[in-house]
Amino acid sequence: MAQLNDDCFAGDNRLLPLEEAFARLRNVFPPVVEIESVPLDRAVGRILAADLAAPLDVPAYDNSAVDGYALLHADLAAGAATRLRVAGRAAAGHPLGDKPGRGTAVRIFTGAPMPKGFDTVLMQEDARLEDGHVTVPPGLKHGANRRFAGEDAKRGTMAIAAGARLRAQEIGLAAAFGLTRLEVRRRLRVAVLSTGDEIAEPGSRLAAGQVYDSNRRTLVALLAGLGVEVTDLGILRDQREEIGRHLAAAAESHDAIVTSGGVSEGEEDHVREGVAALGRLHWWRVAIKPGRPVSVGQIGKTVFLGLPGNPAATMTTFFLVARPVLLQMAGAVPRPPVRFSVRAGFAQKKKPGRVEYVRVRLEAGPDGPVARRFPREGAGLLSSMVWSDGLAELPLDLERLEEGAWLAYLPFSEMT
Ligand code: AMP
Ligand code: MG
Repeated sequence: MAQLNDDCFAGDNRLLPLEEAFARLRNVFPPVVEIESVPLDRAVGRILAADLAAPLDVPAYDNSAVDGYALLHADLAAGAATRLRVAGRAAAGHPLGDKPGRGTAVRIFTGAPMPKGFDTVLMQEDARLEDGHVTVPPGLKHGANRRFAGEDAKRGTMAIAAGARLRAQEIGLAAAFGLTRLEVRRRLRVAVLSTGDEIAEPGSRLAAGQVYDSNRRTLVALLAGLGVEVTDLGILRDQREEIGRHLAAAAESHDAIVTSGGVSEGEEDHVREGVAALGRLHWWRVAIKPGRPVSVGQIGKTVFLGLPGNPAATMTTFFLVARPVLLQMAGAVPRPPVRFSVRAGFAQKKKPGRVEYVRVRLEAGPDGPVARRFPREGAGLLSSMVWSDGLAELPLDLERLEEGAWLAYLPFSEMT
């Protein structure tokens, strides 16, 4: 009797490594070019369209970093305490008008402009005040506790590079420049759909043999995190005609179409064939597990990203394939997720010739974090993604991972 083969990757010898697959896409999908202006409070997650230079010095004037006493360092005795008369007051928003005299100190508060000519601030915690005089202990450094105009951002210098995905801090810096709006790329328009005769809409009654559509909700949530404009096209039946019709219609008005299911080699998998008939498939069968059947193609100028239907594979391939493609199309500067070296909390045999992504969770170990593996395998287990906080990446040629070895850990947080 022939031996049953339980390895669904058996027989494959020409899988495309993911980097090669991406190399084939270079220049195939140009970024969106349209630019729009958005108010700062709607700019988070958007992609900055052009380099932004500081239009002014931030801060605009030299000021004090602490509450204390401003003074001229040259007035201090070398190696001994100095007594200075407190001759004025400068608070944030209330600069000292005049130039203070030599041999005096000015009471000053954080953010107040430095009195003209003064160069150093004594922290109030180090000061002794008596009879309107402050005693400065020896050893205060020249320029201490003084912030310079432009030390945060110098007028005319590059502050935020084109292609940045705007976070709270970039938006804050734009506000510090006095700006109220930013020029960003228009949002990428992405259609999402599920395929499968067994897939049912949550909220409906589940008939025998059906499963609720989890992938679409997952994908819509992931896409929202990328800042794209999502159109939810629902669930398509496993019918070549219907799928082709919907893909063609979606391609008319979207930059990309993301699907789940229907891309493996089973006879009910019509999505890939539909795309091949309408446009081009650039690749499928990449050397990753899970996610080998992930497909990238195009219908006209619209990118097709066909993710496998098993929920953990859908998410993994979204992170590894769909996300970088979509961000590049959105105009973002590519930034591969940071891989952290952590210790393996498990041993695993592995087939060479493909990169395996293992769902893991970090736990504290005696010498730093250890990656624990979800106890069960199976690309269908969405609960494994809920349990995990990232993926361990086992390299192409590895045949066996030993417990305690270093491995590359990709946190989900690096891929949202
Ligand atoms: P497929 O890629 O179409 O062969 O589907 C692989 C597995 O994923 C099957 O068990 C499907 O029932 C399941 N699946 C496909 N699409 C979805 C979906 N949208 N939500 C949940 N499970 C799905
Ligand atoms: Mg299916």
